[in-house]
Amino acid sequence: MRNQVKHFINGEWIESTGSETIDVVNPATEEVMGKISSGTNEDLDKAVAAAKAVLPTFSNSTREERIQWLHNIVEGYKKRKDEFIEVMTDELGAPLSVSEEVHYNMGLGHFSHAAEALESFSFSENRGGHTVLKETIGVSGLITLWNFPTNQTSTKIASAIAAGSPVVLKPASKTPFAAMMLAEIIDEAGVPKGAFNLVNGTGSVIGDGISSHRDIDFVSFTGSGSVGEKIMQNAAQTIKKVALELGGKSPLIVLDDANVEEAAKSAVSHMMTNTGQVCSAATRILVPTSLKVQFEEAVQKVLPSFPVGDPRKKGIATGPLVSEDQWETVQSYIEKGEKEATLLIGGTGKPEGLEKGYFAKPTVFTDVSNDMVIAQEEIFGPVTTILTYDSLDQALDIANDTIYGLAGYVIGKNPEKLRDVASKIKAGRITVNDADTDFHGPFGGYKQSGIGREWGDFGIEEYLEVKSVHGMPS
Ligand code: NAD
Repeated sequence: MRNQVKHFINGEWIESTGSETIDVVNPATEEVMGKISSGTNEDLDKAVAAAKAVLPTFSNSTREERIQWLHNIVEGYKKRKDEFIEVMTDELGAPLSVSEEVHYNMGLGHFSHAAEALESFSFSENRGGHTVLKETIGVSGLITLWNFPTNQTSTKIASAIAAGSPVVLKPASKTPFAAMMLAEIIDEAGVPKGAFNLVNGTGSVIGDGISSHRDIDFVSFTGSGSVGEKIMQNAAQTIKKVALELGGKSPLIVLDDANVEEAAKSAVSHMMTNTGQVCSAATRILVPTSLKVQFEEAVQKVLPSFPVGDPRKKGIATGPLVSEDQWETVQSYIEKGEKEATLLIGGTGKPEGLEKGYFAKPTVFTDVSNDMVIAQEEIFGPVTTILTYDSLDQALDIANDTIYGLAGYVIGKNPEKLRDVASKIKAGRITVNDADTDFHGPFGGYKQSGIGREWGDFGIEEYLEVKSVHGMPS
C-alpha cells in the first residue's frame, strides 16, 4: 500500500490541512493500492503563495540554469525507470511493455526535448521597427487526467520550467503516484523551492480552485470537454489565459491503394493501445466501399495478436480500463452501437476468464454511418467503428464532420493523395503511414478538441507573454 497523503509545497512534503483522503484503486485487481490526500483550498493557497513568492527569481533564471535543471530531471527520471513502469502498471492498468515503451518514454522525451528546444529558443527578436520580448506569463496551474500519467504532467512541467514559470500541479486522483515521483525528481534536480508544487485532491475543490485563483495567471488543462468548459468559465472571472487539451474522434482514412493488412493492423493498434484510452486515437476508420469486406477480414485476423489480460503478465498488449466508471461508460456505448450498427467483433460484458478487473471486450462495429452516436462521441475504450466511402472528397467530408479536430491519419501509397488528405483534414496533428511521432512537433486540437499547443517550442510559448518594445536602444 502506498499511503502518500502529503502535498509537495515550497520544496517540502507537508501534511494537508484537511483529513480526507482518496483511495487509489488498481484497475486490474479492483483493490485499493494506496491513498492520497484530498487537498483543501487552504493547501492550494499555500502552494500558490509559494509559486508567487519564487516568481521574480525563477522567471529571471538564465537559459543555462533552466537547461541544467531539465537535464538533471532527465537523469533522475532515468534512474527510477523500473519504479515508474511498476507504478503506472498498477495505477493505470497499462501492460508493463506499454508502461515502458509508451508512458515512461513519453515522460522522459518531454524533458529532454524541452531542454533541446530551449537551446535555440528566441526570447528576444529585433523586427525592424520594434523588438519582441517573450517573458514568463506568471504562475501556472496544471490540471491533468489519468490516461497518460507521465506524458501530460511532463510536457506541461518541462515547458513551464523552460519558460521560467512556477507551477501548481493537480494530477488526476486516479493516477497520482507517478506524478508524486516526478515531484521527488524535480526536488532533487535543484529546481528552486516553490517553482514546482503538487497538491492532490478532487477536481471540484483543487481543480476548481486553480481555475478561479486570483494569483494564478495561466491554466493548462488536459481532460474532458465538459470540465474544459467549466475551466474557461472560471478563468473568465480573472481573464486568465487557458490552454485546453480535450477529446477527439479522429479519422483514419485508408486509401484505395493501401496495403489492407497493414491498415487493419494500424486500426486495431489504435483501439487496443492503452485500452483505447487515448485522446488522439483513430476511432473512425474510413475504408473504400470496394475494400470493406477485405478490411473486415483483416481486422478479425489481426485482433488476436493484441491479447487482453493481466497487465503484469508478459505478452499482454491491452489491460483493463482505468476504473469501474469508465467500464460502465464504455459498456453503455457498446449497447448503443449494438442498436445502431453491425457488431463485427466483441460486445458488452467482460472477456472470458477476466471477471475480476475492469476489462472490456475489444469491440468493432461496421456498417457505421457518421451520424451515429458511436461515430460522433468519444468512447475512450477498446472500441472502433468502420465506415465506408466512395470518393476521396466524400471521405474528407466524413472525416471533418465532427465537433473534434485533435488528430487524423491516412494510410496509402500515392504521395499526391497522401499530401491532399493531410492538408484537408481539419485537425491539429496528422500522421501519414504510421510515421513515428517527433516530440518537437506541436500537439493540440482544432475545434472542440482544445485551445493551444503543447510539446517542444510551441509548448514553451504557452507559458510566455509577448511584449513589443518600440524604440529599444541597440
Ligand atoms: P476529466 O475532465 O473528468 O478530469 C481531468 C482532470 O480535471 C482531473 O484531474 C480532474 O480531477 C479535474 N477536474 C474535474 N472536475 C474539475 C473541475 N470542475 N474543475 C477543474 N478540474 C476538474 O477527465 P476524464 O473525463 O476522466 O478524461 C477523459 C477525457 O480527457 C477524454 O475526453 C479525453 O479525450 C481527454 N483527453 C485529452 C487529451 C489531450 O491531450 N487532448 C489527452 C488525454 C485525454
